This record gives sequence, structure tokens and C-alpha cells, in this order.
Amino acid sequence: MIYKTDYHMHSSFSDGRSVPEDYIAPALAAGLKEIGFSEHLTLFRELEHWNMDPANVFSYINHLENIRKSTNHLKIRTGLEVDFIEGKENEIRDFLAPLALDYVIGSVHYLGEKTVDFGPEFYEGKNIDNLFESYFNLVCKAVASGLFDIIGHCDLIRIYGYRPSFDPEPLYRKLAGIMKKHDVAFEVNTNGRNKPLADFYPDRRFLNIFHEENVPVCINSDAHMPARVGQYFDEAYDLLRYTGFTEMAVFEKRVRKMVPF
Ligand SMILES: [Zn+2]
Ligand SMILES: [Zn+2]
Repeated sequence: MIYKTDYHMHSSFSDGRSVPEDYIAPALAAGLKEIGFSEHLTLFRELEHWNMDPANVFSYINHLENIRKSTNHLKIRTGLEVDFIEGKENEIRDFLAPLALDYVIGSVHYLGEKTVDFGPEFYEGKNIDNLFESYFNLVCKAVASGLFDIIGHCDLIRIYGYRPSFDPEPLYRKLAGIMKKHDVAFEVNTNGRNKPLADFYPDRRFLNIFHEENVPVCINSDAHMPARVGQYFDEAYDLLRYTGFTEMAVFEKRVRKMVPF
């Protein structure tokens, strides 16, 4: 029996369709042992419809605490998916410090003032090679900031299927090396399958690099509705096993443990 977790899920506290309670039955049906919510939280940008209002963060944490007490056979973890905003590292650290979280996913959605995942028009007329370089640079800075336990969809820049003209392998090598150095986990994010890309993040051709560097891994659905909890996980586990991974990262109170699978 594989010890399955899903730490990247969005409820109606940010841009998910349902309240957290609605994710429990599908999680049990999918054979998960732990789920964690990771609502979008973006500081130092205008509050967008997909974000949780930072003022609600304590009611979110309390809400999950109450569900945790009344849920059997499934551990409920409290996380956030926080945007990395370069130059605001100290302020983000100060915001997160007093919060009772099990983990923080750090994600790069913003490249400049715009997000890379809210429509293919972001890419039109831009130099795709430069976008890939800039995106990976920013993800490396997010890793090195020490703010995060897990990096979300580390190559989200692939979302609309644009590819660089060069072989991106060195970008993945550099990223994996920095993740190892700073002891940050990556996720196989299965939600890329529901996007124009139609594949997981990160690019499966480079999973072996994360394995060679011994970077801890999680498998996450990035579900925005209960029906997608644990989606495509059997395939993702097979992929990791085939690559040589034997352990998953689990988190409690921002401490990581490795569990064999
Ligand atoms: Zn995200
Ligand atoms: Zn997400």
C-alpha cells in the first residue's frame, strides 16, 4: 500500500470551487493518507480573484484546525501556495513566521507584473528563449530565498506548450542543484495534464536530474475541485518509480520526513 499524499489543493478560501470539507471523501476514495490545502497567497501585488485575502489567513488556518479534529483516517495539513516576489523576501518571511503551517509551497506565477499562466497572450511577441531563462532564474531565486519547503510547478512556463529553441537541460540541472543545496522539495504536479501542455510539471525528460541530485519529491494534484484530488497519481507514482525514486517527502509543522513508497 503506497503512502499517498496530496499537498497542493485549492478550496474556496482562494480559487477552488468547494469548501475544504468537500475534498475529504474524494481523498479517501483515492486512497490518500494525507491531504494539504495550499491556498494562493500573493503579497505585494494587487489582490486578484484567485487569491486569498491575506486578512483571512487566520480564519483559514482555524477552519482547517477544526476539520482536522473531526476527520479520521486522513491527515489534514495546512499549507499555502505563496508567490515569490523578488525583493520582498524579508516581508514575506515576516508574514509567514507567526502562522501555524505544515509547509509552504513557493511558486513563480508572476514574471514582471503579469502571470505566465493566465492566457497564451502573455507569450505572444515575446522571445521564448528569454522567457525560459528568466522563469528558471526566478525559480532558482525562490529556492535560495529559504522561504519555501516545496517549489510548485517548477516549469510552469511550459503551460501553453511553448518551447525554447535550445535544449533546456542545463536549466533543470542548475535548478536541481540549488534545490538540493537549500533542501527544498519539488513536486510532480499532475494538473499540467489539464492544461494546454497536457503533461505533468516538471518535464518528465528531466526527472532523472532531480533524482541524481537527490531532491526530495511530492506528488500533487493542484486540484481546484474535489473531483481532481489525487488525479493521475498512479501514473505519476509509476513515473517516479521508473526514474528511481523510492521515497516521498511528507511535512508537519514545516519539518520534512521521507516515507518509502
Ligand atoms: Zn500555482
Ligand atoms: Zn496551485
